[in-house]
Amino acid sequence: KASPLGSSVIPIVNKLQDIFAQLGSHSSIELPQVAVVGSQSSGKSSVLEALVGRDFLPRGNDICTRRPLVLQLVQTKSKSSGGSSDDEWGEFLHLPSNHRIYDFSEIRREIEAETNRLAGGNKGVKDKQIRLKIFSPNVLDITLVDLPGITKVPVGDQPTDIEARHRTIGVITKLDIMDKGTDARNLLLGKVVPLRLGYVGVVNRCQEDILLNRSVKDALTAEEKFFQSRPAYHGLADRVGIPQLAKKLNQILVQHIKALLPDLKSRISNALVATAKEHQSYGEITESRAGQGALLLNFLSKYCEAYSSLLEGKSEEMSTS
Ligand code: GDP
Ligand code: MG
Repeated sequence: KASPLGSSVIPIVNKLQDIFAQLGSHSSIELPQVAVVGSQSSGKSSVLEALVGRDFLPRGNDICTRRPLVLQLVQTKSKSSGGSSDDEWGEFLHLPSNHRIYDFSEIRREIEAETNRLAGGNKGVKDKQIRLKIFSPNVLDITLVDLPGITKVPVGDQPTDIEARHRTIGVITKLDIMDKGTDARNLLLGKVVPLRLGYVGVVNRCQEDILLNRSVKDALTAEEKFFQSRPAYHGLADRVGIPQLAKKLNQILVQHIKALLPDLKSRISNALVATAKEHQSYGEITESRAGQGALLLNFLSKYCEAYSSLLEGKSEEMSTS
């Protein structure tokens, strides 16, 4: 079993992301993450489920794509080699911490419920993320975002989005239903649309598999057999299959975080110094009643100052319009 890379940096960034998400949009600090984009029914949800190895995303009217779903995969140490069902669970940021959901169909219902809770008719809140952590011994540490906005990657000989081409990993789904006599070998080799980070070809569950309740785990075994049995894909072992995709995403994310870490650190410590300064300007907290009274007075006068300057700004605005 391959050991996960950077098992330390991804959890740190996950924690920062949780904190920033709760602060709202006030933070100016951007953190690296992997976004999943593709047109409708291209297989995004299927890829996410395959990376988790479980079935947990809403089905049907594409409900999950109405709000961004941030999915943090956290690798835990396996308790038994058999893989018991109590060593995999999900936690939502909007639910009390340590509320572990072991039943993955309950995770699906909670994503649906939370989507409806905020997305219902109200614009704006659509952007509010749903944050879900999946703990499992069978995943690599990866943070993925399933975005509602659909972006089509330009294909052909005139790619328009150069920027995206430098940080996009191509995932080619549905290799099992290509026209007989054709294959994706040249696409996977980057001979059609070159991408710096390359491609991974995958085979996920088809609709019939889903209707027959075939498990994601069985589908992963079938995927492995598929690639072994097709001569067109021989010699491309590092470019095919969900486990390869997981490995690549983990590596890319870790490298990216490591490169950004020094800058991130200095920005956070600058913000910390500024906040400490502001905190100090309110005065020392003391035990004595007189000291507390002075502190309160200080708060009040600062509040009045801020409030009156706000009013002045408003009246100026009005007089100029
Ligand atoms: P999304 O809209 O991008 O999230 O796409 P879904 O993951 O919901 O997949 C859309 C449909 O394509 C579903 O019926 C899937 O079962 C099917 N599908 C996804 N990936 C594959 C694949 O690799 N092979 C086959 N045969 N069907 C797939
Ligand atoms: Mg989907």
